Amino acid sequence: MPKCGESETRDAIGAASDAWGAWRAKTAAERGSLIAGLAGLMRRDTDRLAELMTLEQGKPLAEARGEIAYALSFLDWSAEEAKRVYGDVVPASAPDKRILALRQPVGVTAIITPWNFPSAMITRKLGPALAAGCTAVVKPAEDTPLSAIAIGELAVEAGFPPGVINIVTGDPRAIGGAMLDDERVRKISFTGSTPVGRLLMEQASKHLLRLSLELGGHAPFIVFEDADMDRAVESAVACKFRNAGQTCICANRFYVHESVHDRFVERFGAAMEGLKVGNGMGEGVNIGPLINDAGIEKVEEHVADAVSKGAKVVRGGRRASVEGCVDRFFQPTLITGMTPDMRVATDETFGPVAPVAAFSSEEEVVRLANDSEYGLAAYFFTDNASRVMRVSETLEYGIVGVNDGGPSTAQAPFGGVKHSGLGREGGKYAMDEYTELKYVSWRL
Ligand code: NAP
Repeated sequence: MPKCGESETRDAIGAASDAWGAWRAKTAAERGSLIAGLAGLMRRDTDRLAELMTLEQGKPLAEARGEIAYALSFLDWSAEEAKRVYGDVVPASAPDKRILALRQPVGVTAIITPWNFPSAMITRKLGPALAAGCTAVVKPAEDTPLSAIAIGELAVEAGFPPGVINIVTGDPRAIGGAMLDDERVRKISFTGSTPVGRLLMEQASKHLLRLSLELGGHAPFIVFEDADMDRAVESAVACKFRNAGQTCICANRFYVHESVHDRFVERFGAAMEGLKVGNGMGEGVNIGPLINDAGIEKVEEHVADAVSKGAKVVRGGRRASVEGCVDRFFQPTLITGMTPDMRVATDETFGPVAPVAAFSSEEEVVRLANDSEYGLAAYFFTDNASRVMRVSETLEYGIVGVNDGGPSTAQAPFGGVKHSGLGREGGKYAMDEYTELKYVSWRL
């Protein structure tokens, strides 16, 4: 991969800036058709793209295929939504006046994405940005540049004009610094950790850039006494162990009502028996390696910290060795006796570790769930309809899964509150992030 820095980033911004005028002048249908074309090519090449993703990122092949389908769904949706970027004609206060509110593209957009969803985090931004009439400079994570370049190659094949989509790989500080220091960039859309998001927000103040920040999370997963236990266990497995626990909306801490705690732990542990750790290219593998050494060391530290503070490891708790592969696999791990002072209860673990605590009342568990600097996703399981509304409204999270451990979908507004970020991605809501509202006051 090329190691780009400041000068290559400036060149890419120049190309995006030069291409912007012609791109925004295209009709929405023309832009939509190119975006749909890219989605079609990704669909055609799903197997190849998924294999590439598994080889560079490690997630099991079936999950990689799922991610390509998820990634292209943002392009499909945005291709259609391009035609619905409406403005308003507002009733005026004088008979000889007309008030128009026009939606216009913000301009050159800088996109910075993480390694855990190497394709979908790009298309979730690129789709609405392009649909709105923006051009883009994309900086993928250093751990997963190949999936990004593959999308770029398909964009060329789809017929996107030069300069509309640019990809720069390399040094994050140099590239990010150049993006934020350049007046031609009007918007930055970032998905990644909260510390880097905070840094970018500070740097964005120089040119008062518009910001979308999709940051870290620390999702509580609550099982009430009246929950459907089968559904809760099945969702816990999917929500915790997808991508080896390396997702921003992964369940990070489990709170289970004391009357069903032991039953849940037993059933959850039994379900984990069926998870196969291994090379993501292997048949039937559910859990691949963690992304890098720092990633697995953090998981080990979280488990050791929990044990030192009195937690009990019910299953797993150690690295797993996989023949012929790097030493970066971790056993699916179940821990009981989680307390609020443990790191697993406050920091993103980003690994296949499920810590559980018992609770006794709704009020107590909502307080525990909200006692976090993060506010991305939260889950709860209950069959009580009044509780569904009450708890959904009280949880301080951008996304709430009710009896549902997999809420992500292209048409829904995805995003967090508190230290989990700013703005929403997905569906019609995403278009607001890439458009400015211009007010035209017209005296006849
Ligand atoms: P990260 O370290 O913040 O990196 C994210 C991106 O920012 C990467 O492309 C990284 O480049 C780049 N970067 C790092 N330092 C930078 C700087 N000083 N200036 C400009 N760019 C910089 O996060 P990560 O470890 O890759 O991803 C995991 C995090 O992302 C977790 O916290 C997770 O919760 C969050 N996440 C959030 C969402 C969401 O939708 N809310 C979705 C997925 C992930 P390099 O890779 O080259 O260092």
